[in-house]
Amino acid sequence: MPEMMEIRWHARGGQGAVTASKVLADASLEAGKHVQSFPEYGSERMGAPIKAFNRISEEPITIYSTVTNPDIVIVLDETLLEVVDVAEGLKDDGILLLNTEHTPSEIRDKIVEGHKYRIFTVDATGISRKHLGRRMPNTPTIGALTSIVDMISAGDICDSFKTNYTGVFTKEVVEGNLKAIEEASKAVTKTENAKGSGGCGPLPKGKYGGESYKELPWAGYIVATEKHAYLRAGNAEDYNAGSWRANRPVWDEEKCTHCFRCFIFCPDAAIMFDLETEKMTGHDYMHCKGCGICAEVCPPKVRAITMVKETSK
Ligand code: SF4
Ligand code: SF4
Repeated sequence: MPEMMEIRWHARGGQGAVTASKVLADASLEAGKHVQSFPEYGSERMGAPIKAFNRISEEPITIYSTVTNPDIVIVLDETLLEVVDVAEGLKDDGILLLNTEHTPSEIRDKIVEGHKYRIFTVDATGISRKHLGRRMPNTPTIGALTSIVDMISAGDICDSFKTNYTGVFTKEVVEGNLKAIEEASKAVTKTENAKGSGGCGPLPKGKYGGESYKELPWAGYIVATEKHAYLRAGNAEDYNAGSWRANRPVWDEEKCTHCFRCFIFCPDAAIMFDLETEKMTGHDYMHCKGCGICAEVCPPKVRAITMVKETSK
């Protein structure tokens, strides 16, 4: 372990990266290390890309800025590979740990040639489904991390989790997490060829084209009219919010009765229709965030919209 290990987590809101960062920090603190754990949110909503950070050190930590050159990048959702440059600033001898069913060499194919960092994968989602009955890849991914670096053991994580979360979660949830951590610590797939050649390059840009994710200005936008100026917080048009999507609505034109319930309820005006025929024509995937409301409100006898998992290619 270097003197100080810097970790950056990438996930979508609701996947537990911030909690994972805290769990890792708690366990490291209890193991006698000096720690930091802090998040960085973009838009605070489920599905939006977020980051969390850890610093873990044998010595007191005197740096308080965000982590820009991590030793380790952990990605809880592989669809983010096409949304965010997760490898930005990752050290050449760094580690990329990804929650995915794919092998490191399959992931390598998605990444520009020439990176030097090592890639590890673990099916943390599958493990969490098995032990927790739902998609919560955060704690199993910490278990996977313990098998890659020697700064902390799966046993340390489990002991800390038991101490800090017994009484917070039900007995079943605590035990499910402990089993998930243990299993994931033995289920990591390593990159076959540990090092490629060349430098550490960016990942492909978002598949929907253009800028797939951006921060809004800290102070919002100032909009000036002839008489007034006011602050606008931003709206859906400011984002390629489609890149946040974990699930995609699929429309069956044959079944659709063009009742427009989905149009009325969609919070992002992402249902398209033809002005002349006044019929629905599909989804605007550039701005659809995949909340699933349109599928929920489509009449049960029609069910013209189904939600499917968004997968990266
Ligand atoms: S899933 Fe449906 S309701 Fe939700 S943003 Fe997309 S189109 Fe709109
Ligand atoms: S709610 Fe269903 S039936 Fe109605 S317009 Fe939307 S997709 Fe078509």
